[in-house]
Amino acid sequence: METVTRFAPSPTGYIHIGNVRSAIYPYLLAKQQNGKMILRIEDTDRGRYVEGATELIEDTLEWLGLNWDEGPIVGGPHAPYFQSERQEIYHEYARRLIAAGRAYADPTPPEQIEEYRKECNAKKVPFLYRNFRPNDTPEWQPGIPLRFKAEPKDYEWHDEVMGDMHAGPEVQDDIILIKQDGFPTYNFAHIVDDAEMGVTHVMRGVEYLSSTPNYLELYDALKLERPKLVSLPHILAPQGNKKLGKRDGAKSVTEYRDDGVLSEAMLNYLACLGWNDGTEQEIYTKDELIKAFSLDRIQTSGARYDETKLLWVNGQWIRRIFDEQGVEALYTRTAEFWPEVANNHPDDYKKRVLSIIYDRLKTLSDLREMTAYFFAEPEVDLDMIIQNKFLKKLSESELENLLKQSIEKLSSLSEWDADVLQDALNQLLQDTGRKPAELFSLIRLSLSFAPFSPALNLTLEVLGRDVSLARLNTVARAI
Ligand code: GLU
Repeated sequence: METVTRFAPSPTGYIHIGNVRSAIYPYLLAKQQNGKMILRIEDTDRGRYVEGATELIEDTLEWLGLNWDEGPIVGGPHAPYFQSERQEIYHEYARRLIAAGRAYADPTPPEQIEEYRKECNAKKVPFLYRNFRPNDTPEWQPGIPLRFKAEPKDYEWHDEVMGDMHAGPEVQDDIILIKQDGFPTYNFAHIVDDAEMGVTHVMRGVEYLSSTPNYLELYDALKLERPKLVSLPHILAPQGNKKLGKRDGAKSVTEYRDDGVLSEAMLNYLACLGWNDGTEQEIYTKDELIKAFSLDRIQTSGARYDETKLLWVNGQWIRRIFDEQGVEALYTRTAEFWPEVANNHPDDYKKRVLSIIYDRLKTLSDLREMTAYFFAEPEVDLDMIIQNKFLKKLSESELENLLKQSIEKLSSLSEWDADVLQDALNQLLQDTGRKPAELFSLIRLSLSFAPFSPALNLTLEVLGRDVSLARLNTVARAI
């Protein structure tokens, strides 16, 4: 049987880092087994519907390279893929349940339900609607909520991640199938759709585990075969005490894209958050993930979100792209991340800058802060030199002399490339008797006034002779 998975988000806002993994795992499993992944938009909760959210979802999946085989945009044999457009299908299934005596119109006003709930609270017993099930119920028609008629019993089932599960009758209730507005509830609609769409693996957050007995009863009542159930443990907030959510500042996935995280790194990091293949490998391409993925190595407990680790993985990916595919491949990904002062500088020059700095980048947007001095004169800030931990022992005249000696040496060079410059710098160390940390910090700061720069000989080479000497002279005069 063909493996069919689905990602079934509700369009209630952006996709954040904590919930996109429910798209990654179904994608990996479907691809590994030459199956299909369906994208289904669960938009029947009209109160929570957010305009534009579907586009954000599509954009996120496209960016991560999680191409769905059926769903919005691409279409497919089970269209429509928006639940709001599948009303008739749900109503047809509803009528089947009514005919079988397993669903009834519930005219109880919400205030009455509130009363029941209070009664139960006062008695300290759990509220189950079925204990208040009315004897006489009107005939169902759209406009009246439709409830399932539970026949509670013991249930056993196997969850592909959580293992063998068991629940007693006390957790099953007469859940609402169709709401007053005619739209189905999630509880009902997903059962119908997963069956209609031939879904073989229902992969979703573990928060649905406690409702599973109700779903199992619905499968039985509708005479549907149970799909495989796969509960994905939560991604936890960095403190590890609760599920990562928007309220804990979980950023949208695309915000990371705008901050210069590569899609390869995001996919890699998230796939490995709560899953591993039993090896020490940490960096995976999408194809490697597809090959290595397996349900039985998804961990059962929540995994803590760790942004530092994400950025580390991103740094690894930046290096990998440069080292394996060359500067051009990385450069095409950097367009919007250069500082403004880099505008109008030739591509070749920017590529040279990129080539000497790429291995220090955690995100592409680090380029903005790390490279400005390659494109514009840095503001002279003598305090940075005078208070530098290696230089503060030197007097101003010592600093001035050291700079003058450096200028003299560097101006005498007939060639200006990294090797020649390195020799000259080594020679200067000997001539001046200074420690590398002293001499190199002084030159580096005078060229950049930045807290960090690549290797000094490379920085000098890329800046060029004229700019380098001019900057050193400016500082020598100012000290
Ligand atoms: N629409 C549900 C949600 O966004 C999806 C749950 C599922 O995958 O079945 O939480």
